[in-house]
Amino acid sequence: MSFELPKLKYAYDALEPYIDAKTMEIHHTKHHAAYTDKLNAAINGTKAESLTIEEILKNISGYPEIVRNNGGGYYNHNLFWNFLSPKGGGEPKGKIADAIKTYFGTFEKFKDEFSAAALNRFGSGWAWLIENNGKLKVISTPNQDNPLMDVALVKGKPLLALDVWEHAYYLKYQNKRADYIAAFWNLVNWEEVENQFLS
Ligand code: MN
Repeated sequence: MSFELPKLKYAYDALEPYIDAKTMEIHHTKHHAAYTDKLNAAINGTKAESLTIEEILKNISGYPEIVRNNGGGYYNHNLFWNFLSPKGGGEPKGKIADAIKTYFGTFEKFKDEFSAAALNRFGSGWAWLIENNGKLKVISTPNQDNPLMDVALVKGKPLLALDVWEHAYYLKYQNKRADYIAAFWNLVNWEEVENQFLS
């Protein structure tokens, strides 16, 4: 069994003007595709071939670095595309909105904390909203690490993710990562965030 690059649920230009079509196309067909291919090549003929990506990530310290980097890249982008939607943005509703208020005070405070985590991640990495033992937390990870990995400093179930690698924004935003982060809030698929929370 090998891992497959998922199709996006929207067109490459559907997230304009917040994320441009060229960035989306390269990000999906080059970057995500490369993580997928390299993961498959790295596990070819090993026991990992019969495991789910989550099972691999949970024990990632037992694998070579190439599996950590490309397995993380494969999984993180699968999540990321689904956390974006042309119909996204605004404020969450329902149980996830209540949980955000419980753990961050207000939606604005949550947004500020998540944005700061994304902005302050030095170099390449990700910002996350995670759930751990029923509690919500904002964290960030370097490179393609994620909160499922046994090597993560803080572990939990990913509820929302933002890619802050330069390849995610440089064509449109160049060095202005803060502008990309601000634009991201217009795309957040809160239904998907709630699905993750309730799953
Ligand atoms: Mn990326």
